[in-house]
Amino acid sequence: MINIDLHCHSYFSDGKLSPEELLSEAHKNGATMLSLTDHDHIGGLIRAQKSALQYGIKFINGVEISVTWRGRTIHIVGLNFKPSSEFIEILEKNRQGRIERLQKISDKLQKKAGFLKVYEGALALSNQSDNVSRMHIAQFLVNQGYVKNRNEAFRKYLGDNKSCNFRINWINLTDAVNLICEHSGVAVIAHPARYKLSATALRNLTEEFINAGGVGIEVSSSLHSLNERLNIALLAERYNLYASAGSDFHGYNDFNRVLGKTPELPATCRPIWDLF
Ligand code: AMP
Ligand code: MN
Ligand code: MN
Ligand code: MN
Repeated sequence: MINIDLHCHSYFSDGKLSPEELLSEAHKNGATMLSLTDHDHIGGLIRAQKSALQYGIKFINGVEISVTWRGRTIHIVGLNFKPSSEFIEILEKNRQGRIERLQKISDKLQKKAGFLKVYEGALALSNQSDNVSRMHIAQFLVNQGYVKNRNEAFRKYLGDNKSCNFRINWINLTDAVNLICEHSGVAVIAHPARYKLSATALRNLTEEFINAGGVGIEVSSSLHSLNERLNIALLAERYNLYASAGSDFHGYNDFNRVLGKTPELPATCRPIWDLF
């Protein structure tokens, strides 16, 4: 394992911890470099940066942008950008569909499964009322005893193709990558093995991403198996992409995710942190 983590979440999105709690936990685990990458939100960065300074952790500005690509949701991590009011406004716009989605999902869960008050329940679990996640919905269903765990909630109801999900039209891939580049940041494809894309579709995604200015891909992610890491390392080599590493820690009991630590990159990889 290495002590670098360029992907994790605080309560500014669907993580459980405050930025300060997150940095304290990362420090305990020996992190030397960390990026906070909340979904569609950069409200935690200044607090996280301040905390990191106390612990001697090198802090990198980060965000995980939800994008729509060919009708699917893909996550793009932006690293080391300089935020602006335009940047904040575009993220705000990207969050706008979330409250409407919560209402739609809540209605579907009541109609199809008889689950009550999902709208109010998920909202109460979220620290940011305009950034409610399916994670909060899943956690509410667990708390109510409607499902055994969050996995079951996604498998039965909330997953991308499940009957109680409702798709948001996020910013498109090219616009998101451009936004990051225009703010002097680097764009990274998050957990590429997670999307269940065919080899061809993954190459198409990668090529469009590179054409828009993207330079990195997550090779080491807690969401990847060893085999997936090796496969994505090959893809990175083929397209000359920098490799990134992130725990995708959310602060809930996420089994194999350790904040501040990530599995070593395969030897062929060029680490993206060489740029920072
Ligand atoms: P959202 O961005 O609100 O659509 O919620 C997606 C979030 O739910 C992801 O960022 C994960 O943290 C979490 N999640 C957990 N399990 C799953 C799953 N099986 N499919 C999609 N998201 C999941
Ligand atoms: Mn998440
Ligand atoms: Mn993600
Ligand atoms: Mn994430």
